[in-house]
Amino acid sequence: MSESVDQPVLSEMPLNQLIACHECDLLMHKPVLRKDEKAQCPRCGYELYAQRHNVVNRSLALVLTALLLFVPANFLPIMQLHLLGQTSEDTVWSGVLGLYNSDMRGIAVVVFLCSMAIPLLKLTCQLAVLLSIRLNVGRSYGLFIYRIYHHVRDWGMLEVYLMGVLVAIVKLVDMAQLTIGLGLVCFVGLLLVQVWLEVVMSPHQIWVALSGEDVHAGD
Ligand SMILES: [Zn+2]
Repeated sequence: MSESVDQPVLSEMPLNQLIACHECDLLMHKPVLRKDEKAQCPRCGYELYAQRHNVVNRSLALVLTALLLFVPANFLPIMQLHLLGQTSEDTVWSGVLGLYNSDMRGIAVVVFLCSMAIPLLKLTCQLAVLLSIRLNVGRSYGLFIYRIYHHVRDWGMLEVYLMGVLVAIVKLVDMAQLTIGLGLVCFVGLLLVQVWLEVVMSPHQIWVALSGEDVHAGD
């Protein structure tokens, strides 16, 4: 009985001490985690958030790697096609230009946005956010940029593009001689680095660091 008197009612607690489960909407008191601990929803088991170590430096390394891979992934040949004595090389960028010149301008714009412009915008947003935390400058701009990142993240569809390339390779392999280009290797590398970045760059810790609640988030 005395326990229930000491426990504050959830609705009276400050919002920053509460957390809602993303999957089942259970509202609960936000636990304080030590490094490398995870909080899971007691009802459905969803991972609420994790306290990863050295988030900012590890994420910065991954963002810079992804930016380095971005250029060869888009401008080096994805594959070489040998057919009837002729060889053609195709890059992501030449694919966009090819669509544009074939009077499929709407599709060319969508492919350009989803496979080049938005993935690059995502990476530059992540870089700006991480630098604002790392260098401790302009965190209010960092907050604004991180909000933009969350709006555009679902529009970068590199994995859909990769699936299209794989389907094309499977279909063309019987008709012509195909050689996988360095561009495809960099493209797959870029995708893997981005998945790794999603795991490392814990949104909870980034929001907390940007809002200045925890100055040690970069440790
Ligand atoms: Zn839940």
